[in-house]
Amino acid sequence: MHRAGGLLTVLILLGLVAGAILGEVLHRNDALDVAAAMMNWGDLVLIRPLKLLVIPIVMLSVLVGVTSIGDPSRLGVIGGATLVYYLATMLAAVILGAVLVTSIGPGVGLDATTAEQLRVSGESAFAGADVLKGRIDQASEMGMGGAWSSILDQLIPANVFADMVAVRPLGVIVFSLALGLALAAGGSAATPAIRGIASLFDAMMRLIRWVIWITPIGVLLLVAGTVGRIGIDEIYGPMSKYMFTVFVGLAIHAFVVLPIVLWVFTRISPFRFMWRMKRALLTAFGTDSSSATLPVTLETAQDEAGCSKRASGFVLPLGSTINMDGTALYEAVAVVFLFQLFGIDLSFTELVVVVITATLAAVGAAGIPSAGLVTMVIVITAVNTSLAGRGDAQLPLSAIGILLGVDRILDMCRTTVNVWGDAVGARIITQIAPDDAPDEETDDAVAAAT
Ligand code: ASP
Repeated sequence: MHRAGGLLTVLILLGLVAGAILGEVLHRNDALDVAAAMMNWGDLVLIRPLKLLVIPIVMLSVLVGVTSIGDPSRLGVIGGATLVYYLATMLAAVILGAVLVTSIGPGVGLDATTAEQLRVSGESAFAGADVLKGRIDQASEMGMGGAWSSILDQLIPANVFADMVAVRPLGVIVFSLALGLALAAGGSAATPAIRGIASLFDAMMRLIRWVIWITPIGVLLLVAGTVGRIGIDEIYGPMSKYMFTVFVGLAIHAFVVLPIVLWVFTRISPFRFMWRMKRALLTAFGTDSSSATLPVTLETAQDEAGCSKRASGFVLPLGSTINMDGTALYEAVAVVFLFQLFGIDLSFTELVVVVITATLAAVGAAGIPSAGLVTMVIVITAVNTSLAGRGDAQLPLSAIGILLGVDRILDMCRTTVNVWGDAVGARIITQIAPDDAPDEETDDAVAAAT
């Protein structure tokens, strides 16, 4: 597996580089329709097969994790530690983003014509992006209360099959947790089911190992499509300072903050662990979706990076929907940047509003492309409400259009950080929930049930 794994990584890297070069060639030749076709092919070839595996793997991995932990109080401790980790690292990311964007000031000091051009082109980009506009309108109608109640709705599912069909992993996780606990408490009658689930899970992992071989070509197509549409030179355009702020923030969080947290709790080498997780991180970068990457994240964490089935079995599925450090950081930077661009000063109180709501918006964002761009509405609306209380000018929601053009590139980077945050969490929780020796595993799960 190791030699094949090495080859696969090289192929994924080649796919990334070839995709970027091909995309740039397409962009320079104005071949926007070819870029769009490549995006569609990437979706067909890679995203769809990965998505197909997401819901079954969420269900099976949570069931395997819970039945092998068995004891509800132990599960409570592990679950509590996981939630504390998610919240603490997301808050750290969002505070880092807020500090960086206020000190770098990417939206301050642009000359008046450039700022005006950005505002006008943003407005028309927003008007032209029908699907996104619909999603943004929906999110703005929901507001803060709606965002909370949507999370609550998913946490108390009424129909697990509806959640499966709509690919809402949170409801499936809650149901699987409950079913897993019931199986673990089921005595010897539950033994065949637990053994069956363990062997189905192994088969799913085998399936994932097969599908992973599509990653290089899928990544090539998706990256070529993205770069073909946006062009690498966008990095030097008027949005460069904003993009730079997001890149720096994500880099500090990924290479400094999370490694320190990992080292403090595990004493393992963070960069060696990052290297072992590379296949999942590259897939996240290429697909733009932590949810579609989940099968690869699980496989890499367990096969390559020493995470236990018990810990990763539910830390990773849960993390892929609610733990989004990269998205949280990005939302803070993007929102403050827009306010700066419109010349609206934010006081310390509004920055606190940004920190709190950006964390909520990141929790509420699904692990799919551009989700962060949509849930950003929650943050803007909350800050606008606070400004309205002071009688100050507010930011029009159409300002989000300004971010559209470069969002995909930033999304690739923040999704990678989201998946990296999940992996670090799984490795830390492995310390308190290690697996037994391989041959004892299923027996132990069965013993827990008897
Ligand atoms: N694409 C991100 C993810 O899947 C979510 C976002 O920030 O848009 O993790």
